[in-house]
Amino acid sequence: MKQLMMVLGACALAFAGCDKKADGEASAAKPLKMITEATFPPYEFLRGQEIVGIDVEICRAVATKLGRPFQAETVDFDSVIPAVISGKADVGAAGITVTEDRRKNVDFSIPYVKTGIVVIYKKSNPFKDVAQLKEQRIGVQGGTTSEAYVLEQFKKEPERSRSPAEAVAGLKAGRVDFVIADIDPAKNCVKGEADLAISDFITSEEYAVAIRKGQPELLKTIDAVIAELKANGQLATWIEQYTAESDKLKDK
Ligand code: GLN
Repeated sequence: MKQLMMVLGACALAFAGCDKKADGEASAAKPLKMITEATFPPYEFLRGQEIVGIDVEICRAVATKLGRPFQAETVDFDSVIPAVISGKADVGAAGITVTEDRRKNVDFSIPYVKTGIVVIYKKSNPFKDVAQLKEQRIGVQGGTTSEAYVLEQFKKEPERSRSPAEAVAGLKAGRVDFVIADIDPAKNCVKGEADLAISDFITSEEYAVAIRKGQPELLKTIDAVIAELKANGQLATWIEQYTAESDKLKDK
């Protein structure tokens, strides 16, 4: 099921009519549109119909700084950066790892998290080292650095899924032997699964917000917001809060 889920800011109605105000009132500010992929807890996930998470809070803080309403939409991960490039969205935030390849197409903010990918495995088939993965079937979320890792390191195609959870379902069902994913969604996936475990980091990565190239002012604002959220402890609070909330959703 592919859904386009929209979370409209308070200004949605005002925006619909804001260009043609008969009374000549100033137009309402255009919403800052975030594009994401909401299967990636705790950075973005669905609370009912609402897209929530750390990345959502960061982008909402940018909108607030700009005095603009906020709107978020979820698509498949491999459509996030194209939506930023085409201008369909103003900011892309989806636990996006900064890579040199992506830098050719978008500009990145300063990083807001240091992280990396890990191997998810069945305890009955323990992970020892990456060399062991070469001959195995590996599940990943499509378009991610985990996919790139398998292509580059093992010169082979992984089994692509649309979310880390779907990749892990493939592991449980025996369709793949191992899954590679970012550590936080990986932890969320193995929570409550007695027969699954995760490895240490196999890469070192950083997440940042992506925007269309050539917007130095917007980039400066995003960098300033991220620096402030790091300095005042708000980012750390969100990480804690959304990790707890997404872990709880997993328990249901
Ligand atoms: N950090 C990984 C990447 O950028 C995965 C992101 C995601 O699946 N949302 O490719």
